[in-house]
Amino acid sequence: MNNFEFQTLKKIPGIGAEMYDMMIKLYPICRSITGDGVRKTLDIISEQIPLEKYEIPTDTEVFDWTIPKEWNIKNAYVKKSNGEKIIDFQKSNLHVLNYSVPIHKTVSLSELKEHLFTLPDQPTLIPYRTSYYHENWGFCITHNQFLQLEEDDYEVVIDSTLENGSLSYGEYFINGESDDEVLLSCYTCHPSMCNDNLSGVVLLTFLAEHLKNMSLKYSYRFLFIPETIGAIAWICRNEHNIKKIKHGLVATCVGDPGILSYKKSRKDNAEIDQTVIDVLKNSGNDYKVVDYEPIGSDERQFCSPGFNLPVGSLQRTMAPAFPEYHTSADNTDFVQPKYLADTFLKYLQVFSKLEGNFGKFNLKNNKDLKNKKETKKGQFFLNLKPKCEPRLSSIGLYRKVGGGTDITKNERIRTIIIFWILNYSDGKHSLQDISKKSGIHFDQIKPVAEILVEHNLLKEIKNK
Ligand SMILES: [Zn+2]
Repeated sequence: MNNFEFQTLKKIPGIGAEMYDMMIKLYPICRSITGDGVRKTLDIISEQIPLEKYEIPTDTEVFDWTIPKEWNIKNAYVKKSNGEKIIDFQKSNLHVLNYSVPIHKTVSLSELKEHLFTLPDQPTLIPYRTSYYHENWGFCITHNQFLQLEEDDYEVVIDSTLENGSLSYGEYFINGESDDEVLLSCYTCHPSMCNDNLSGVVLLTFLAEHLKNMSLKYSYRFLFIPETIGAIAWICRNEHNIKKIKHGLVATCVGDPGILSYKKSRKDNAEIDQTVIDVLKNSGNDYKVVDYEPIGSDERQFCSPGFNLPVGSLQRTMAPAFPEYHTSADNTDFVQPKYLADTFLKYLQVFSKLEGNFGKFNLKNNKDLKNKKETKKGQFFLNLKPKCEPRLSSIGLYRKVGGGTDITKNERIRTIIIFWILNYSDGKHSLQDISKKSGIHFDQIKPVAEILVEHNLLKEIKNK
């Protein structure tokens, strides 16, 4: 047993309960991609690890994106004409469409309904919905409550602000012997939901605390950022150092009862991929490994073709495969201390293996090279904005309300096809390869590629 493993084992008893307690403290806070909820969250993390905090002003350009206005909320409710409060933000912050603009007016039932979001298939749960880049207001309620609403004059109040401000994120760096870095990333933008993603926040906080006094070969960088826009902003500001990242993991959905699942990096066979898979194989428990796909969390940005970093994601049940996903059921009952502790241990085993292999790792077989040979035929395109994802909503190619999987089927399929085409149009994969990799029929992919060409996101290149 090396020093690293010994220290790992000493820490384990009780760690799940400590992580769970921190999650309970973070749970009531109304977070979003900007605002005081994120700052409060970073403050709580700072009680345990000395976080560096950053603020990026509204309107700052980060690749194809712009930092949005800052959103804050004090209160929100809907009252019937008899004064009865039927929807109350104080009872659950999921009741408000995240990023709702301020409003105070009286509306009819039909107008109210245009601003209500429900889950007809899960009628007892409140959905989580967002509207970051399209100004709107709304409430999320159970479908059962929706069905009981009667004709009335409803007073709607959303006491929020959407103003120039900044986007906040936190970073913690542990300096190892080498400049080579292991990147650990989680997001801090979801309101009251536990598995997605407070479990990731507490996992990284406790891992950082555990590693901070150890002597390490690698340097370790922990990111606490809002999803998508935060990852894009962080990469944009740190592009000059990005090559130092040798291995990375995105931590999300790490506290539910499901088995461990690993989503490989886009490189498919990087050292981090082989290391995590080895740890899972030797764990004696069931596990699942899935290939990289450009759908999911911030690995989409780290693995965009302009960077193609060796960043995978070690989770338990992968979102959105659990029915509690993005609903009020992703609560403090769903995540449990023993599962948090088990994931914590697996992450430490991954680090232990990476440390042990430092400077002596050889790829067992390089599938990247094989892929290059396979792709000689077909139509090739080049992603003209390969650094992170381009902002599809600004050209009308993205849904207006986020958070749900209940957008129209065609809209959803098109978004997925766009992500596949953009992520793999690197000059090495033809449209036919992308069709094969994604399992999406070529006839569905081709017209979407043409739309992307029209929007100057893609250009056809000659087959070399
Ligand atoms: Zn989510």
